[in-house]
Amino acid sequence: MPERKADVRFVADRMLGTLTRYLRFLGYDTLSANSIARGSSREDTLLLHIAKADGRVLLTRDRELARRGGTSAVLLESEDVIEQLSQLIESGIMPAPGSLRLQRCSLCNTPLRSATPREIASAEYAPKPQSGRDFAWCPVCRKLYWLGSHADHLAGRLARVRKKEG
Ligand SMILES: [Zn+2]
Repeated sequence: MPERKADVRFVADRMLGTLTRYLRFLGYDTLSANSIARGSSREDTLLLHIAKADGRVLLTRDRELARRGGTSAVLLESEDVIEQLSQLIESGIMPAPGSLRLQRCSLCNTPLRSATPREIASAEYAPKPQSGRDFAWCPVCRKLYWLGSHADHLAGRLARVRKKEG
């Protein structure tokens, strides 16, 4: 079992797209098989190589891949993302999440920075009013993030994970 640490990094198989986005929201550096060339017959081997070479925990729903990954792999038992997060916390791979912050782009894994007023103004989808909100920016996707209804919903679900563990 991989050692528990707050700066643990992951590489996830392509069945774990939702978990990948949630882990990024929580600030974890998480590579996705979806960003690797699609349909490669050697994809499993590639994921195992990335996990080993880059010191990442391999997250998978594939029993055979988990077996091949040995101590650097985790077989996710559930299809439900909250139960998947609970498994990672309960098995000691990552600590229970604290307050939700926008740290990492959920699409491309790039660390977010504070958005400039110009960037906020450039996003037609930005919520109004904007006062009192924290906005973050992905410089790669040029996508605006803020803590809003989606993040509030996620924070609520994560709070239940913490409660379950505590
Ligand atoms: Zn991005």
